[in-house]
Amino acid sequence: MAKKRTLQRWSAEDAAELYGIRNWGAGYFDIAPEGDVIVHPFGRKNPVTVSIPAIIQGMRERGLNMPVLLRIENILDTQIALLHDSFRKAIKDLGYRGDYRGVFPIKVNQQQHVVEAIASFGTRYHHGMEVGSKAELFAALSQLRDEEACLICNGYKDEEFIELGLHAIRMGFLCFFVVEMPSELPLLLECSERMGVKPLIGVRAKLACKAGGHWTDSGSDHSTFGLTTTQIVDAVDALRARGMLDCFRLLHYHLGSQLPNIRDIRDAAIEASRLYVGLVKEGAPMGFLDLGGGLAVDYDGSRTNFISSRNYTLDEYCTDVVEAVMAILDENSAPHPVLITESGRATVAYYSVLLFNVLDVSRIENQGSSLAGIDELILPEDAPEASRNLLQTLQGLNLRNLQECYNDAVYYRDEIRQQFLHGKVSLRERTVAERLFWAIINRIAQEKGKLPHTPKDLAEIDLALADIYYGNFSVFQSLPDSWAIGQLFPVMPIHRLTEVPTRQAILSDITCDSDGRIDHFIDSVQGVKNTIDLHVLKEDEEYYLGVFLVGAYQETLGDLHNLLGDTNVVSVRVNEDGSFEFVRELRGDSVADILSYVEYDPRRILEGLRKAAEQAVRAGRIQPAERLPIMQAFEDGLRGYTYFER
Ligand SMILES: *Cc1c(COP(=O)(O)O)cnc(C)c1O
Repeated sequence: MAKKRTLQRWSAEDAAELYGIRNWGAGYFDIAPEGDVIVHPFGRKNPVTVSIPAIIQGMRERGLNMPVLLRIENILDTQIALLHDSFRKAIKDLGYRGDYRGVFPIKVNQQQHVVEAIASFGTRYHHGMEVGSKAELFAALSQLRDEEACLICNGYKDEEFIELGLHAIRMGFLCFFVVEMPSELPLLLECSERMGVKPLIGVRAKLACKAGGHWTDSGSDHSTFGLTTTQIVDAVDALRARGMLDCFRLLHYHLGSQLPNIRDIRDAAIEASRLYVGLVKEGAPMGFLDLGGGLAVDYDGSRTNFISSRNYTLDEYCTDVVEAVMAILDENSAPHPVLITESGRATVAYYSVLLFNVLDVSRIENQGSSLAGIDELILPEDAPEASRNLLQTLQGLNLRNLQECYNDAVYYRDEIRQQFLHGKVSLRERTVAERLFWAIINRIAQEKGKLPHTPKDLAEIDLALADIYYGNFSVFQSLPDSWAIGQLFPVMPIHRLTEVPTRQAILSDITCDSDGRIDHFIDSVQGVKNTIDLHVLKEDEEYYLGVFLVGAYQETLGDLHNLLGDTNVVSVRVNEDGSFEFVRELRGDSVADILSYVEYDPRRILEGLRKAAEQAVRAGRIQPAERLPIMQAFEDGLRGYTYFER
């Protein structure tokens, strides 16, 4: 349990514990003794660090406004190295006689820069790509230059997709076609015969075992893609009949993303190995076993089989998978295949952080006038009965009747609201009653901390009393999974961490949608909590929050709710001496960009505005000379950022 807030001394250590940064940070994120969040871009064992506030300072100097998606490029390299080193170690320790090849599934983050960085750093490990569409195939072909790296083509493939893949094989790419639907096979064989190119064929298996998690219906019998065992055997027969069984080289499955439980991963590897052995016995040359994605990220740092976590380490994942496959192959004296995994989430999640400033705070007790001195309030003769009762409740409140006072407060508050609806209570009378109500709730919130156990009803008070911090971002654009499936991401202030965070808050974005909020936060004790501990805003100082581990899936799932567009993106590369460079900056969408996405033509908008301004001149509302600054303001506005600019 974190230190009691009443203690004056609060250090970075207390903050680290409160926000759980060392649990979910995977060695990449920590807090410096001075209270700033720092990044270890080379992993926990390397002492080099860089401070996020220092990077923000650099952004400010360059005129890059919040919100910004910060990418730490080195983390991509470090994650890829970790993955390969872990597999190599497991392979060596267990005496496995096949290789490991990783591939990056492009759909997890298709940004050119990411794919380029992975292809370039990945060369030393022959790290390849997995694609699920023609566009992704182009993205992969444009970056991959390593003939030993695998290029896995999943997804529903038309003739053009297949032809492109066959051309790639001709050019020397190690390109596999994974058959996802029985109907794809005849088309593939026809194209390859016509073009005279021998394909490398794989099949995607529907496994019988299932896994728990958010995204895990891709593996089981009812998954949309993949072949059942019967269909796989049909494929063997079809290939044999055409004299092309020698093209059958790979077995693939994908159970789903974010698999929190190692048992599911092991069970699937076992079932797939049995299938693989079956295919070898059928006479297919095989040689590659592709275990798909699913390697989870511990978003909440709990190391459990909770949906936002995982109950295994990377080393355990590698060891378990290699061990499971090896046991079954050895039992059948089959040669060990090259193992492929398609880890996307685990490869890229850590490397981006969404940074934004807080624009405003609304506090319940600040709504209207302050509550000071309200105990001594003298109500007028004709005050409503319910208001009188509220005042009495407030005056009689003590540690033994908290629950009772809470019930009374809610009851009388509702009564006043009813009477207001029927015109029996005036606006001012209602306001007095509301203030009394909040005074009671505040008092209960203070007192309940002294109780050994908080009654369940009273626990909700914290949420009711939470401040709303308005962040300069859009949940829909930048954290779509937080909104769509309630995924937890670690959120915390990135500075001031030697100061006690005295406020309980929820976060609202700047869309006008009531769903544009974050009200689930990780909690080291209970797993999830409804509020986050934040600092009181300072007059002349920005307050910055970071949402961490957002590198996977968030960037292209986001939408243009309220026409808030892509954020600015800054990629930083950290040098061995701890200095850093801004290696890439992408300006976020301008207002004009966003409008053109929804079919407006910015030139015509300006033309329309010019006409409206001219009409105002004609009507004598503005002078001709006043038209110029008005039009300039509109033009600047179109070029501007879609987010709040100070
Ligand atoms: C989405 C997907 C992946 C990536 O899964 P992660 O859990 O992000 O590693 C891998 N393979 C296939 C076929 C996918 O569809």
